Formats: sequence, structure tokens, C-alpha cells
Amino acid sequence: MDVGDKNPIREVQPAVVKSEAPDLGIPPEACLIEGHAEPCTVVIVGASGDLTQRKLVPALFNLYLNAGLPQPFLIVGCGRTELGDRGFRDKMKKGVSAAPQRLDSKWGEFAKSLFYRSIDYGDLPSFSALAGYLKEKDEEHGTGGNRIFYLAVPPSLYKDVAHVIGRSGLAVENENGNGWSRIVVEKPFGRDLGTAIDLDRSLHDHFEEHQIFRMDHYLAKETVQNILMFRFANAIFEPIWNRRYIDHVAITAAETLGVEHRAGYYEQAGVLRDMFQNHMMQLLALTAMEPPSLFEADRVRDEKVKVYRALRPFPVEKIQEYLEVGQYGPGTINEKAVKGYRDEPGVNGDSLVPTFAMMKVFLDNWRWQGVPFYLCSGKRLARKLTEIAIQFKQVPHSMFRQTLGEHITANRLSIGIYPDEKIILTFQTKNPGARLCLRSVTMDFEYNQNYKGPILDSYEKALIDCILGDQMLFWRQDGVELCWAFLTPILEECETCRERQAMLLPYAAGSCGPGLPGKGEGFDRLMESMRS
Ligand code: NDP
Repeated sequence: MDVGDKNPIREVQPAVVKSEAPDLGIPPEACLIEGHAEPCTVVIVGASGDLTQRKLVPALFNLYLNAGLPQPFLIVGCGRTELGDRGFRDKMKKGVSAAPQRLDSKWGEFAKSLFYRSIDYGDLPSFSALAGYLKEKDEEHGTGGNRIFYLAVPPSLYKDVAHVIGRSGLAVENENGNGWSRIVVEKPFGRDLGTAIDLDRSLHDHFEEHQIFRMDHYLAKETVQNILMFRFANAIFEPIWNRRYIDHVAITAAETLGVEHRAGYYEQAGVLRDMFQNHMMQLLALTAMEPPSLFEADRVRDEKVKVYRALRPFPVEKIQEYLEVGQYGPGTINEKAVKGYRDEPGVNGDSLVPTFAMMKVFLDNWRWQGVPFYLCSGKRLARKLTEIAIQFKQVPHSMFRQTLGEHITANRLSIGIYPDEKIILTFQTKNPGARLCLRSVTMDFEYNQNYKGPILDSYEKALIDCILGDQMLFWRQDGVELCWAFLTPILEECETCRERQAMLLPYAAGSCGPGLPGKGEGFDRLMESMRS
């Protein structure tokens, strides 16, 4: 695989940063919430777990601190564990990392809206009792019967839980004391095309599409949302955003973390299901899609779906030309020795699950014909980095060729998603001095520059959108199915092929991924941004 020209990021020297914006006197809070949020109850099913303590309740608490929640507002946690209201409140407080003075003064008030019910997941009487309990809470607090059911249980339970919610009458809207009713499912949405369709059928047994929120928190990251603003609120980028000017696009999502405490899940998923079916495909769609006629949920999602339809299927017989997979071995991260994947607790000693993948994909449409998109993601890599790099083509003719030769480093635009929330444009300038010499410089924009207001993290944004009923940042089922249809043959080939073991390339934890003999050059270039 060759990703084209030398990555200029490593050579650049910072130039002047210009991104002053006029202060229009708009209070920063004005950007926090759009629309009217109605009183409601968030029912978290599986509330004794990690996601609820680390992400959901802290996000709701932060929204509360920024006056971002409707009033009245309740959280009802449910699970098999016997916690009680007090036990639940204490457990949730431990997950919140707000400044201590804010935690002390505001947590007590917020915690009054937290309740806990013990339930059995597949059990109808248990959920019928929950329905009665929620009605009582509505009457007591005035939450109007509006409810969000957030499934924070392992994916194997989604169908059963959705089914009993439906059977107990809680999915019905505007009847029997119910207001609106929404269900949130976390990724993964199935483990292949067949199971994704099956899950969707089960959800639709009781819920309409407008009630189903397929959560991918990546989409709610500020910098991910900004891709569309950057592309479509500026006139200067769109004319060059195509095959005529762009050589290739590299989308990287690298982590330094290993599987941590999620080995059970990861052993079933691997990097292709964990990252490619969802986050990587979303970043691809946002980079490649056509401008929608209106910034509205279905029009935006229609355009994304067109990108997925344009994905050129992999020729599976030539899979190794398009896909590299690897697995991390022991190594060093931040000067600390770390275990290899197969030595992690909960992982099979002879596991063939990939923790790294790099994929070359093409989109068969007018805008992108012939432009490779390189998607790369892995665990235990040298650097934590999520970015989209747009590599432009060489100048068509160099008038400096007599002094500088034909080759001039081409322009590159990097959209940093995380942790560097930056947009960096690299271009050539003359080096000061008598000799004709070029150098690569950058023009940088830091996403939070000149902004002092509250910033919503991805779960906060997704939760508030769900409360507002806005599905823009949630997957639609046709998109889910198209991505699975693209990936399923690849997964089958990887998982069943006899040569699979040979395909899985080892790499040391803390490195830039597997060395690829004979194919390493292009790959190494892509990885240079990780080293810089
Ligand atoms: P957990 O493994 O912590 O499980 C959540 C709760 O589900 C547990 O507290 C437990 O509650 C119940 N549960 C767990 N295993 C079983 C089982 N085998 N049978 C019945 N009940 C079980 O999950 P997380 O909180 O980490 O994640 C919840 C969902 O969100 C999952 O689908 C996950 O894939 C997804 N997700 C999680 C992320 C994270 O950062 N944690 C990130 C992105 C997605 P009890 O015993 O009280 O019934």
C-alpha cells in the first residue's frame, strides 16, 4: 500500500497563527442548547455498570450545572443489583469529576432527581411494575410521561429488554399517561449484517424509527460536528474538495490504551467491529459526503448513506492489497512496560483477534473516483491521535524546477479530532535569505481558541439531542446496514480464512503499528504523523 507523497507534518515549522474572531457579544451559553427541552425521565437500564457511572450520569450532571436540563427532570436507574436510591446516588457521585466546590454545592440538589429500581431484564412483571413506578413519579414530579430508555446493558440483552419495555406498554406514545417514548441503543448494533437486521426488527416490533436513537458518541464530538461546518460554511474548500485536487485522504484513530477491562467484549469484536463499522465509517462519510440542502437530521443522514452506497466492495481474493491487520505484543508505553494482547486478563492465549487495522477504500462516484481513503485504527500505538488528513496533489508544473527540482511538498490539511482539536494547513513559503529555498509552514487553528463558554462533551451533546428528539447525530438503520454489508465479507474472510494467522501481523505496544515488509513505505508515511 502506498499512501502517496511524503507526509509534510514532520518537517513543518509553525508560522503565524491568525484566527482572531470579532466578539459579537453573543453570550457563549447561547450556543449550548437549541430548541425547547420538555420535562422527562431518563430510565437507564443496566445502571449499575461502567457506562452509567463514568459517562452517562457525569454528562447529565454537567448539563445540570450548565442549566442544560429541562425541569423537572428525573433519572431512574435499573438493574439486577440491589442498590436502592441512596446506594445509587453514592455510586454515581464517585463517577463525577466536577470541581470539588461545584460538586459539594450542587450534587445534593441534583441527586434528589436520581432513583433506583431493581429489575430482572427479561421479566415482564418486573417491567410492568416499573411502568407503574414511572407513572407515580410522573404524577409526583410533573415529568409528563416523557421517557428515554437508555440501554446500558451488554448488547446480547438489547432485544430482550426492548421487548419487555414494549410489552409493558412503555413504548406507546401519548396514551395511558405516557408522553413521548424513546429508546437509546449503544454500539455495537449487531455483529454482522444479519444480526444488525435482526436487532432492528426487534426494536421495530415496539418502537417506530423516530423513537430509536442509535448512539455513536464519536458523532457528538465537537470537532467531528465541526467537519460539516468547516466544509459547508466556507466557500473556499468545496471547489478543491475532490479528485482533481486531492491525492488521498488518511483517517487515523490511534489509541495508546489496550483493551483495559473490556477484554470479554473485545475478544468478540476486534478492531474492525469496534472501530470501523461505526466511528471510522462516520468520519469517512463526513469527509466525503455531498452538501445536504438543509442542516436537518434526515437530509444529513441521506447524504451519508449515499457515501456508504458508493463504497467499492473489497475484492476478497485480493484482500491483502486493501487490508492489513495486526495484534499488539508486549512493549513500552510512556516508559512503562505493558503486556501483549494475548497476556491481557480475559484474552485467549492464542487469540487471533486484530487490535490494529489499516484499510484502503475507494468511493465509486464522480467526486472521489480513484482517490484512496486510508482508514487506520489500533490500540497500544505510539500516540493517541484521531485525525483526518487531506493530502492535496502536487502543483501541476514547478517553475522552480531548475533550482528546487520537480518535487515540491504538496499541501496538506489536517483536521485534528482528538486530543489535538486543531485544523492545520501546511503550505510552502520561501525561506528568508538570498538563496531560493522553500520550507513547509503551517497555519493552525485551535478549536477552543477565543471561546470561554461551557463545552459539551460528546455524551452531554448526545443526551441533550435525545431529550430534544433530534436524531441528526445518531445512526439511521440504512447506514448501519450498508456499513455492515461492506464489512461483513471482509470479516468473514478474516475470520474463516486458513491463512488468517499469517495475515495477523504482530507489533510492539508503543510502536507505530506492524512493520509491513514490501508494503511498508506507504504505511510508514501515514504513521509519521503519529511520531511527530
Ligand atoms: P457493563 O458490562 O458494565 O454492564 C452494565 C450492566 O449490565 C451491569 O452493571 C449489569 O447490571 C448488567 N450486566 C452485565 N453483564 C450482564 C449479563 N451477562 N447478563 C445480565 N446483565 C448483565 O457494561 P457498560 O456499562 O460498560 O456498557 C453498557 C453498554 O454500553 C454496552 O452495550 C457497551 O457495549 C456499551 N458501551 C460502553 C462503553 C463504556 O465506556 N463502558 C462505551 C461505548 C459503548 P446488573 O448486574 O445490576 O444487572
